[in-house]
Formats: sequence, C-alpha cells, structure tokens
Amino acid sequence: MPSAIARQLRVAVIGTGPAGLSSAIALSELSDIDLRVYEKAGELKNLGAGISVNHNGWKVLELLGIRDRVNGASTNPTVQRNAYTGEIVDPGVPHDPNNAYEARRVKRLVLQEALAAKVPEDVIEFNKKLVGLEDLGKDGVRVSFEDGTETIVDLVVGADGIRSVVRRHMVPDYALDYAYQVGWRCLIPAERLKHIPDLPLTTTSWWYGRAKSVWLSPLDADVSNLTDIEFTARVFNEPPIPGKTVSWGIPVTNEDVFSRFRDCDPRLVEVFKQVPEGNWTEFAAYAGPVPDSLVAWDKLVLIGDSSHPSAGGFGSGSAFAMEDSWTLARSIEYARLITAPDAIQSTVAEALRIFNAIRRPYYQAMADFRKSQKEVLKEVGRKEYVDFDSDLRKRFARDGLGAKRGKGFLAFVYDHDIGKTWKEFVECDQARRKGINGYAQADA
Ligand SMILES: Cc1cc2nc3c(=O)[nH]c(=O)nc-3n(C[C@H](O)[C@H](O)[C@H](O)COP(=O)(O)OP(=O)(O)OC[C@H]3O[C@@H](n4cnc5c(N)ncnc54)[C@H](O)[C@@H]3O)c2cc1C
Repeated sequence: MPSAIARQLRVAVIGTGPAGLSSAIALSELSDIDLRVYEKAGELKNLGAGISVNHNGWKVLELLGIRDRVNGASTNPTVQRNAYTGEIVDPGVPHDPNNAYEARRVKRLVLQEALAAKVPEDVIEFNKKLVGLEDLGKDGVRVSFEDGTETIVDLVVGADGIRSVVRRHMVPDYALDYAYQVGWRCLIPAERLKHIPDLPLTTTSWWYGRAKSVWLSPLDADVSNLTDIEFTARVFNEPPIPGKTVSWGIPVTNEDVFSRFRDCDPRLVEVFKQVPEGNWTEFAAYAGPVPDSLVAWDKLVLIGDSSHPSAGGFGSGSAFAMEDSWTLARSIEYARLITAPDAIQSTVAEALRIFNAIRRPYYQAMADFRKSQKEVLKEVGRKEYVDFDSDLRKRFARDGLGAKRGKGFLAFVYDHDIGKTWKEFVECDQARRKGINGYAQADA
C-alpha cells in the first residue's frame, strides 16, 4: 500500500452553488490537497425560496457532517387541491415525527449557510469567471479567468451549473432545450397571510389548475412560530420569449405572475395580492441530455447541474450535487490507495473513472424516466378539460399525479443512500481485485 504522496493534488472547483460548496467541504477533508474554489459572482448568491430535502438529501448531509445545521417543515401531509374551487382532491399522508429522514421543505438560505459555514476559510475566490481550459498533458490543466489571471491544476471540478463552461470544453456542441415550463418563486411573511380564512399555513398545499399549479409551504421546523411561507406558481405551456427566457432567478413584477392566475380560488388570489412587490423571481426550465461521460482529459469532472440539466426535475438537484461531491472525494481517496503514491495523474484518472462509473448510470436512469414521462406532461399541458375537477380527482385516484406511477423509480431517486452505494462499490471492487472463486487477479 502506498504510504505518502510526492506533492499536493491541485484542484480547482468552479462555482459556489450546492455542488461547489459541498465539494469544497468533502475535498478539503482529504490530505495533501491544494484546493481553490472560483466563483464568477462577487458573493454567495441566495436564489430561490425553499428546497425539498428527502431521504437522499438527509443521508448525504449526514456524510458531509452538517445534518444538524439544516432543518425545515415536514412536507407531510401535502394537501392536493383544485386551484379553482380550493376543494381537496387528496389529503396526503400524515406527518411521521419518528421518521428522521422524512421529506422537509427547507429555506434555501439555511442550506447554503450550513454548507458555507463548513467550507474552510479563504479557499473561495469571488469575481473569478472561468473562461478557458487547456489540456497541458502530464502538466495538468491551464485554467483561465475573465480577469486575465490563470492557474494550473491537476483536476478541475465543474460545479458551474446548468450553463457550465467546463461542460462546453468537454462537449462543445452540447445544447440545452427550453422545457416550456416556467416557475415563479417567492417568500411571503406569514403575518401577511394569517387573515385569509380557511388557508392552512402549517402544512404544504398544492393547487392544480389547467396547465398550471401553485404551491404553498411552511419552511420552519417549528410551525407554531412561522416566519415565511414559500409561494411557487408554475405554468406548463409557456412559450419562450427571445432575450427574456433565462434559466435562473430573474426579477418579475407581481402583475407578470398574477396575470396567469386571476381565475384561481379567491384564497389564492388573496395570497398573490399579499406578495410584496419585488419578491418574485422567475425560473424558466431547461433540460439537456446526460453527456456520454461526466469526465474528460483524465482531469475534468462535471458535478451537480452541469452534469445532468433536468429542468429542475425531481426537485432534488441539491441532493444530487452533494452526492456527487461526496462520491468524488471518496473516489480520490480510494484511487490513492490503488495507484502509485507519486503518480498524481494516474490517481486522478482512476478517481474520475470510478466517479463516472457510479454517477453516470444514475443520471442516465433519471433521464430515461423523464423521457418516459414527457408525453404524459405534454398531455397535461395541452389538455382540453370537459370537467376539470373530476378529471383531477381521477388522476389522483389513478396515480397520485405520477407518485404511484413512478413509485419504484422515484424510490430509487428519493430513498437513495449514497453511503450504501459507495460501500457496495468498494466491496465489489475489492472482490474483483482479490479474485473471486479462486481466480487470482492482478492487484490494481
Ligand atoms: C424551479 C426549480 C426548483 C428546484 N427545486 C429544488 C428542490 O426543491 N430541491 C432541490 O434539491 N433542488 C431543487 N432545484 C435544483 C437545484 O436548485 C439545483 O439542482 C442546484 O442549485 C444545483 O446546484 P449546482 O451547484 O450544481 O448549480 P448552481 O446552483 O447553478 O451553481 C452554479 C454556480 O456556478 C457559478 N458559475 C457559473 N458559471 C461560472 C463560471 N464561468 N465561472 C465561475 N463561476 C461560475 C454560478 O454563479 C453559481 O454560483 C430546483 C431547480 C429549479 C430550477
């Protein structure tokens, strides 16, 4: 077994979203690493309102050592309603206080602060926009920034989101598709909604209309002391507007959003009226294929949204990003054990091979599932309803709007335990290396 390595492994992480911050945590815990994180913005961005943390999210937060710093409101029960009449079409399943891994809705800022607090001081450099990468062969990768500076590293971690510059260097002709879906998100102080009769704020509610939906959710673990309510409105047949439709968080006016929801239940209309002007941000959804490989040059790796642009699909992108980060750190650690200590290049190459073998099939399975659902969603977007309410009730009775239809698959996504997946990989790889059934194999 190797005992020491010749020099530090030089790593540049690009981006400070959930992927960049979590990789900074996981990688900084490895020995002999020279880690820098580069972000094009001048500070950490606080975009969006809430995020769902499911079983998969809690598991990886535990592995990153920040589970205790993250909490939110249980999403059970999620009450499903007709957006026009407000009538309940499905009451949801009860909250289970004994389930430590129950899905919760968490303030995005809470997750970001928990991640940021565990990143070592001084590793992040702001106002550093990546513009170029050059493969220097055995010498590493030249990383160039818009401000004219550059650095040379052994590994570049592309945590630079859905419009990744790192991905563009790996797959120059990669194209994103607009998914004809737009979401608007904001937080409303709970005090502004308490006067609305029969509008429960302590549980999540989802209101469905024709090709649109609205979501209201508490975000506080202690729902007896509510601060903000998350409000999300979505449409599923929004044509693109050249020059306007962008992927992330542009400010829009109250009227922009409300104009599409005037015909809703009066309680919802009142909620729209209570949004403080300037609170809404718009999120147009884009998707693209999973690249043939998540790694390139034996020196580049894509993690988080850069590796699987999925139109916000599965509402679990932060968890996927954190799983990637943790897996990448484990892959480097493991590769160091099975490659020569002074061969940084082959260590990185082996680590990336392992990472790709574990994570790419996972994302491909999600992409395949999304594809299988595309026609169903298109139908929901275009459908002419004769009796909307009975149609909605039938849909819930039949498949719970997809939850029952995709039950096995969605469990594969939301109930995933990356620690278990990693353990299985190591057991399998070690068995292969030792030789199974008496057939000895080369040791590495
Ligand atoms: C409408 C919507 C709802 C969602 N709901 C949920 C949810 O409920 N739960 C959940 O877990 N996920 C949810 N997601 C997904 C989640 O927000 C993303 O998956 C997650 O933010 C991805 O993290 P990331 O770090 O990969 O990318 P990002 O968060 O996009 O971060 C990328 C970072 O890279 C920086 N960057 C980009 N280019 C460069 C460059 N050239 N140089 C330097 N820096 C650069 C950016 O400034 C940014 O800081 C949702 C997404 C959408 C759109």
